[in-house]
Amino acid sequence: MVDLGDITVRELEYLRAINDEDSPISITSLSRKLGRSASSVYEEVNHLVSKGLVCKGPEGVYLSSDGKMLLELVDNSHRIIETWLVSLGFSVDEACRLASKMETTMPIEVLRKLYEKIGRPRSCPHGKPITFSMVTNKA
Ligand SMILES: [Zn+2]
Repeated sequence: MVDLGDITVRELEYLRAINDEDSPISITSLSRKLGRSASSVYEEVNHLVSKGLVCKGPEGVYLSSDGKMLLELVDNSHRIIETWLVSLGFSVDEACRLASKMETTMPIEVLRKLYEKIGRPRSCPHGKPITFSMVTNKA
């Protein structure tokens, strides 16, 4: 089972870049997109494959189901933290910036409590949905 804290900011950058594509992306395209050398991208992709977050196919790399789940967890984490910060009085922009620093480090059990505490919101201040069952199903 995926958990936050299992992922670094750099890994997240890769997962988001890969996920943005509608189809598998080649190492060359990915390195162009990220502005990094093909060899460092190749290395990082292999690392993500060994963690079970990315798969390699003949057409290129794509996210595994665990990779997708982890990304969804991070996005929901961001939205919950952001909603909470706005309720504390931060502006939406400030809350978004701060949430980006905390989204990968907040333990799931804390997120669940926070989600309950702020009244089980359905969306974040940007209107994006908070629906991920790993966070919203349990108290
Ligand atoms: Zn945000």
